[in-house]
Amino acid sequence: MSKYKLLLVVLSLAFAFAHAQDTTNAAQKASVRFSPDMLDKSIDPCTDFYAYACGKWKAANPIPADRSSWGRFNELQERGEYIVRDILEKASTDRPGRTANEQKIGDYYASCMDEGAIEKLGAKSLDADFQSIAALQSKKDLPKEIIRLHREGADVLFGFGSGSDFKNASQIIAELDQGGLGLPDRDYYFKDDPKSVELRQKYVAHVQKMFQLLGDDAAKAEAEAKIVMDIETGLAKGALDSTSRRDPQKIYHKLSNQELAALNRAFDWSAYFDGVGAPKFDSLNVVEPDFVKQMQSVLDSHSLDDWKTYLRWHVVHANAPVLSSAFVNENFDFFSKTLTGTKELRPRWKRCVGYADDDLGEAIGQIYVQQTFGAEGKERTLAMVNALEKALGQDIQSLPWMGDDTKKQALVKLAAITNRIGYPDKWRDYSTLEIKRGDALGNSQRANQYDLQRRLNKIGKPLDKRDWPYPPMTVNASYNANQNNITFPAGILQPPFYDNQADDAMNFGGIGAVIGHELTHGFDDEGSQFDAAGNLSDWWTANDKKKFEERTSCVRDQYGSYVAIDDIKVNGKLTLGENTADNGGMRIAYMALLSTLAGKEPAPIDGLTAQQRFFLGWANVWCQNRTDALSRMLATIDPHSPGKARVNDTISNMPEFREAYHCSSTAKMVNQNPCRVW
Ligand SMILES: [Zn+2]
Repeated sequence: MSKYKLLLVVLSLAFAFAHAQDTTNAAQKASVRFSPDMLDKSIDPCTDFYAYACGKWKAANPIPADRSSWGRFNELQERGEYIVRDILEKASTDRPGRTANEQKIGDYYASCMDEGAIEKLGAKSLDADFQSIAALQSKKDLPKEIIRLHREGADVLFGFGSGSDFKNASQIIAELDQGGLGLPDRDYYFKDDPKSVELRQKYVAHVQKMFQLLGDDAAKAEAEAKIVMDIETGLAKGALDSTSRRDPQKIYHKLSNQELAALNRAFDWSAYFDGVGAPKFDSLNVVEPDFVKQMQSVLDSHSLDDWKTYLRWHVVHANAPVLSSAFVNENFDFFSKTLTGTKELRPRWKRCVGYADDDLGEAIGQIYVQQTFGAEGKERTLAMVNALEKALGQDIQSLPWMGDDTKKQALVKLAAITNRIGYPDKWRDYSTLEIKRGDALGNSQRANQYDLQRRLNKIGKPLDKRDWPYPPMTVNASYNANQNNITFPAGILQPPFYDNQADDAMNFGGIGAVIGHELTHGFDDEGSQFDAAGNLSDWWTANDKKKFEERTSCVRDQYGSYVAIDDIKVNGKLTLGENTADNGGMRIAYMALLSTLAGKEPAPIDGLTAQQRFFLGWANVWCQNRTDALSRMLATIDPHSPGKARVNDTISNMPEFREAYHCSSTAKMVNQNPCRVW
């Protein structure tokens, strides 16, 4: 159930929740298409375009009780959930002739939905885990136990997987990363404002309650929770924060196995690597050497009994969503209610759809694309991608601040970007994954084991560019800096992003700007450090790099002054890449629209010109409501700015917006010092 966290070289369009929340029966709600009725005509678009475009939608779409946010993305996502439920329900009818994939997805879903059986088991299905932990004789046994737990999907002590070698991107190497924390980011362990202090107290109380649910008395559980917090705080000391993890130089350290061993002698790495199921290797990316060093002191300073307590916590934590309701509710209470402000648990079927998407996404995705994605969608999207690539090429050539040598390299990189649209060319083969009807927890653990093995099998092999990072029903898009490619799953190629009944202006402002956003990621503060082949290599002249950094610092400061919630501002550095991508994406989408219109001025629709509709197309995808708690959390961990900033801060940099809406030069939506990188 826990999903391997991709390093931030995969840059997505929007924050992707690991099925923490979701909601209501909005399938019956209004269509997600744009309608002029959405506009709040009482607001001057030159004063607050977001309020003009989204105010009415926001008022009419409060956050459902079982969500921490609600936006147009979610409307689309939810439609997808109903489609997937239908697929799963059909597959769950046990009948002869089901395909192997239908058996897996159907029995997985049926087991997850069998609340009675799950309730009866309580936490009994974790007994084998607890016995194995209790039997540990010395800290020397830890690697073996951690292998077992990693294979089941528990995030203990550190993360291990595979990834592209940053300096030789076509080769997959082993990857050892920070891990083993229960809270969302290392900063949660150290911030000393009252809200953060209170959150930590609530976290410790939650850990205590989970131990009590396992049968420990209150005093023992309290002491255990304190041990967990001590160990996690110790590990967090060595971990990098979300902002630092966007810097490729800080997350790439290729070391030999001997160099790794020298960093931390308290842990038997070769025992771990031999047992975990990885092919032999002699060097790997140690993402954060400081974390590995810090791990040694945490290992040394805690007794074996402390480690048993820590492991026991993470076993119950990792599996809580598929245990009986007492565990599900307590887990929800802290991680959704306290942390993100969600009031109610999602209905069971939605949680099960989410888990099935996570564990068997491509088996479901094959059926999903047959039902929803035609050849026409792929063709029209490709045509738009081509138009956007052409516009970015023209944009690069016309940049006043960039020298010819760097321009030449940028164009080489642009020409090398490959496009993946709709669904993968090669589907994941689940034949080695056993799904048993009636074994919800076992299914989840075996799916994690399958996924870890799949990732480990890649070590030492050339990169397979046909692998997708998420299933095709996902409402998102991404650019991968190591592969220099963009991915647009079928899930996002629908209204409000892309509507085959809408005019070009609306579509270029929606999916067009999204395509532009992903292309621009290849040239943001992070992506620009990778070359056409996806290697971490500097293709800039020193002078152009300096000018680039001056321009990106304008973007950093602009968004960094936006108030996310209370006294917390958007982190301009954490969000720099996404904001740069939004600005570049909108600019080249506008250029592409103009060249598609080829000088023709289409008649206004609903009294709105094509130029005006273009900007509405963009605003339309970012209408959203969020709880205060979620805004607070995302300010720390989300590299994307809130929807309002993505709309207003971005278009206030564009003179084209000012022209389209005839704004005065002093209007609020006209940035007096407009930022422009691309
Ligand atoms: Zn992005």
